[in-house]
Amino acid sequence: MFGDWQSSESKRSALVASVLQSIAIVLPDKTNLEERHRARQSHNKFATLEFGMTSKKTTQKLSRRQLLQQTTLAVVGLVASPKKAQADLSLGSLPDVLSRRSSSPSIYKETAKSDYAKNMQPFGGSMATDPRCLFGMPPNGRPWQFDVLVVGSGYGASITAARLSEKMLPGSRIAMLERGREWVPGTFPDVLKDVTDNSRLKLFGRHKRDLSNPTGLFNVVQCDEVSVLSGSGLGGSSLINASVALRADREVFLQTQWPQALREMDFLSPYYDQAEYELGVRQEPCDWTCKMKAQRLAAEQLKDHGCHFEAAALTLTRSFRGHSLPVLNRQGLVQRDCIDCGDCLTGCNVGAKNTLAMNYLPMARRNGTMMFTQTEVRDIEKCGDFWKVNFIYFHRDEKGRHTEHEGCTTARVVVLGAGSIGSSEILLRSQSEDLDFSRQLGCNWTGNGDALGFVRKTEFPTNVAGFSAQDPQGRRIGPTIQSNVTFPDRPNLFDRVLIQEGVAARSYANALSYLMQDFDLDHTQVMLGMGHDRQEGKIILEDNGNAYISWPGILNSDYRRLIREAFSSLAHGHGGKYKYLRVFGDKMISVHPLGGCGMSDDPRSGVINHKGQVYDTAFGGDIDESTGEHRVHNGLYVCDGAIFPTAIACNPFLTISALSERAVQLLSLEPQYVDLFRFG
Ligand SMILES: Cc1cc2nc3c(=O)[nH]c(=O)nc-3n(C[C@H](O)[C@H](O)[C@H](O)COP(=O)(O)OP(=O)(O)OC[C@H]3O[C@@H](n4cnc5c(N)ncnc54)[C@H](O)[C@@H]3O)c2cc1C
Ligand code: SF4
Repeated sequence: MFGDWQSSESKRSALVASVLQSIAIVLPDKTNLEERHRARQSHNKFATLEFGMTSKKTTQKLSRRQLLQQTTLAVVGLVASPKKAQADLSLGSLPDVLSRRSSSPSIYKETAKSDYAKNMQPFGGSMATDPRCLFGMPPNGRPWQFDVLVVGSGYGASITAARLSEKMLPGSRIAMLERGREWVPGTFPDVLKDVTDNSRLKLFGRHKRDLSNPTGLFNVVQCDEVSVLSGSGLGGSSLINASVALRADREVFLQTQWPQALREMDFLSPYYDQAEYELGVRQEPCDWTCKMKAQRLAAEQLKDHGCHFEAAALTLTRSFRGHSLPVLNRQGLVQRDCIDCGDCLTGCNVGAKNTLAMNYLPMARRNGTMMFTQTEVRDIEKCGDFWKVNFIYFHRDEKGRHTEHEGCTTARVVVLGAGSIGSSEILLRSQSEDLDFSRQLGCNWTGNGDALGFVRKTEFPTNVAGFSAQDPQGRRIGPTIQSNVTFPDRPNLFDRVLIQEGVAARSYANALSYLMQDFDLDHTQVMLGMGHDRQEGKIILEDNGNAYISWPGILNSDYRRLIREAFSSLAHGHGGKYKYLRVFGDKMISVHPLGGCGMSDDPRSGVINHKGQVYDTAFGGDIDESTGEHRVHNGLYVCDGAIFPTAIACNPFLTISALSERAVQLLSLEPQYVDLFRFG
C-alpha cells in the first residue's frame, strides 16, 4: 500500500487533503483557539484584558513530504489515544513538538561556551583541580593535609569556601570536595534522553536508589511517600534551580524550634543583604510574559480571599541591551542577557543565570580554594584534633565506563555543605562507638511543603513550553518562575502558602503537553506550591548506605489538603480546571529538601548549635564547663539546607545563604582558629 502512495501523486494529495480536513473538524487549531478565546472573553468579566502577548509561532514552510509525515503522526496519536480528540492541537505546533526530540547547536550555546572558557582563563581553564592530586598530596608541615575542608558546593558550601578563603592567613590550605562535575554553560542537556542519561540514581526498575551515573547532574531520590530532586555538580542545585530569591517570613524564626540567638528581631537582615548583593538579585518586570500576566489576573480574582500577587526577585542577568553585548558581573565574569527560554531547571545554556559558578565559587577559587570534583565523601572519622575524610573518586576509563577509586584525606576543620540529604547521609554513615551525634540526626526533615499542580484550559494564554538556547523568534516564555502568589494576612502561620507559576523545560515539554492534552502548552498553567508541612519526615540509611526518606503521615495530612485547596482556588481564578499528575505515583515531590541536621539550643532536640557546630552527645549532651555550652565536636560543622529545624514555606536558597554568611563569620572569629584566619 505504501508503494501505491509513492506511485500515485494525485492519490497522495487527496489523502493529505482529506486527513487535514478531518483534523480540522476534530481539533481546534491555534486560530480557532484564539477566536474561541475572544468569544469567551466578550462574555465574561475579563473583557478589558489585552491579549498582546499570545504565543508567536514559528512560521516554517513544510515540504509536502514533511506535511504528510507530521499529519500521519498526529492521526496515529489520535487513534492511539481517543482522549486526544478533546486536546488542543494546532498543526503549527508540530514542528516544535518534533524539534524537541533532538538537541541542536546554536550561536547562544557557542557564545556561552566561549564566555566560560574566557572566564576560566585566570584559573587555568576550569575551576576544578584534577582529583588525582588528592591521592599524593603531602601534609603541608602539619599533621593534616588541609586546614579547612568543605564538602559539597551548593549555597552553604560555596559561601563557606568563599568567605573563609578570603580571611585565611598565608600558608593555610582550603579545599572543596564535590561529587558532581563542573558544567560549562552551553553544554547542559536540553533533550529528554540527555536529561535521563544524567540522572545520578536509577529512575526506573526495582533498584531506584542505586547509582546510575555517579557524576550525573540530576539527583532524584525516590521514596514511598516523597521524592526529592536536587542538583549534583560544581554549584550544587544552583545549576538547575529556578533562581527565585525570597526572604522568609519573619514569624518563621519565632517558632520555638529555632535557636534563641536567631529569634532576635531582624538578626538575618544584614546577611540577607550581603547574599542578595553577591548573588545579583533583581526584580522581574511586571507582566513580562503570558504566564506571569495570567497568574496576576487569576490572583486578582481571589483578592477578596486575601490573595496577593507580586513579581518575583531572581538571580539572573537582564541588562535589556540585547544578547550580543556581554555583561560583566560583580566578579568580573562575562554573562549574557536572559533570552526568556524557560530552560532554567535543566541548566542555563545561555550563561544568563547567576549560578554559584558565576559568583561565590570564582570568589573562593581566586582566594586559593582547591576544588576537587567527581569526589564523593562517604564518611568521616575523628583522629584526635583533626578529621579523616574517606571519599570515592569517580571517573570514566578510556572505554567510557565508570570506575571508582577509594581514598582519604585529612583536615583540621570539616564543614559539611552537601545539602539536606547529603550532609545527613554523611553523618549517619559516620556514627560509631567513637563518634556520637544527637539522636535527632535525620529527624524533622521537611520538603518545605513543596507540591506540584496544573491548571488545564486556562482562560488566559500562558505559553509554558521552554525552547532552550535557540533563536527566540519572538517567543518570550520567561525564566521558570517570575511571580509569587501569597495569602499574607492569614493569622495562622501554618495556613499561609506560596504559589508560583512554572515552565516545562524544552526536554520535557512534549511529555507535559501529552499529559495535559495541550500540545501548544499555551493554556496550561504550572503551579508550584510551598507551605508549612510540619517537618515530620525522617532520613534513614538503607543497606547500601544511601538515604531513604520515610514520612508515613504526609499523604493524608491537613497540609496536603490545604495546598490542594489553594491550587484549586487559583485554578478557579484562571477559569480553568485544577489537575494533578500521578505519573510518579501519588506522592509529594520536593525540590527544597531541608533539615536532617537541625539547629537547636539543646542536643536533645537538634544536631547542631546556632553556629553550625555538631553536638557531641558522648556524655549525654552535657554542658562543657570550659565554654558553658553543650559539648560539640571540635572542628566539625554543618552549613547548608540540612540545618533548618522547620520548613520556611518559601524558596530557601536565600535563607540558606544568609544563615551561611552568619555561621561562617562566627567560625572565622572562634579564638581556637586565631592562627588560621585574619581578624575582622
Ligand atoms: C529544580 C529545582 C528548582 C529550585 N528552585 C529554587 C528557587 O527558585 N529558589 C530557591 O531558593 N531554591 C530553589 N531550589 C532549591 C535550592 O537550589 C536549594 O535549596 C539549595 O541549592 C540548597 O543548597 P545547599 O547548600 O543545601 O545544597 P545543594 O545546592 O543541594 O548542594 C549540595 C551539593 O553537595 C554535593 N554532595 C552531596 N553529597 C555529597 C558527598 N557525599 N560528597 C561530595 N559532595 C556531595 C551535591 O552534589 C551538591 O552539589 C531549587 C532546587 C531544584 C532542584
Ligand atoms: S530563561 Fe533561559 S536564558 Fe533565562 S536564565 Fe533561564 S535558562 Fe537562562
